[in-house]
Amino acid sequence: MFSELIKKDKRNPKYVAEALAVGLELLEHDEWSLDKLSKISKLKYHSCYRHFKHVTCGHSGVYTLSAVRKRQFKCLVCAFDRDVEAADRIGLDIVPICDKYDPSSKRHFKCRKCNTTRYLDTSRLRDGVFLCNTCKDSTFTRPSSVYLIRLIFDSASFLKLGMAENMNGRIKSYGLKEKFSFETLYVQQFKTWKEAQNFETLIHTSFKDYNLNETTSKKFMKNGFTECYPSELEDRILEVLNNKKESNGNI
Ligand SMILES: [Zn+2]
Ligand SMILES: [Zn+2]
Repeated sequence: MFSELIKKDKRNPKYVAEALAVGLELLEHDEWSLDKLSKISKLKYHSCYRHFKHVTCGHSGVYTLSAVRKRQFKCLVCAFDRDVEAADRIGLDIVPICDKYDPSSKRHFKCRKCNTTRYLDTSRLRDGVFLCNTCKDSTFTRPSSVYLIRLIFDSASFLKLGMAENMNGRIKSYGLKEKFSFETLYVQQFKTWKEAQNFETLIHTSFKDYNLNETTSKKFMKNGFTECYPSELEDRILEVLNNKKESNGNI
């Protein structure tokens, strides 16, 4: 029975092993869906491409065998999620959703205030700054706050450090997938968004090695799943928040 199953498996064992070595599961070769993908995207998915599944996040992706061998691939679904998150932090939405599988580094962004759409490189998101030419709504000048909350679900609870003009609105935008409550542990107001961001970055940098695994936070949150921390870190994070506040004044 088992040997029959192996015979049916047309995957080349060499490719299977190469994929596993870099955290991918090689899926059955499927020319029909590669053709379909070529039609809807800007890329030609020729016969060297194969379907893979990422072992850690479970998303699938289409890469060439040689790209896999050289580790030159990334999960586009996870990358898209991270872009949505980074855009959200600077008042932008990503449109349309079919951008999700676009391997280029450019995406369509919409200013949340005036709805103007722009085609920008995602590296702009990492700067954390966006000045909309249409509404001149500079993210530098809006007031904002940095907060630490504990999100409590039936089966888990963890900490979320974030910044927002309106904390309750921001929490709603997380798209929490289960019934939840939250406890506010810390809030600090800043005159401008940029000041708040500098402060938040200081804290994140101090705890970058302690981030909650994204697979865990994604179980509960559609957005905002980065920069979550295990509950046990509460005292340490609060201590750093208070110390940094004192050493930087109101920044
Ligand atoms: Zn992924
Ligand atoms: Zn605008």
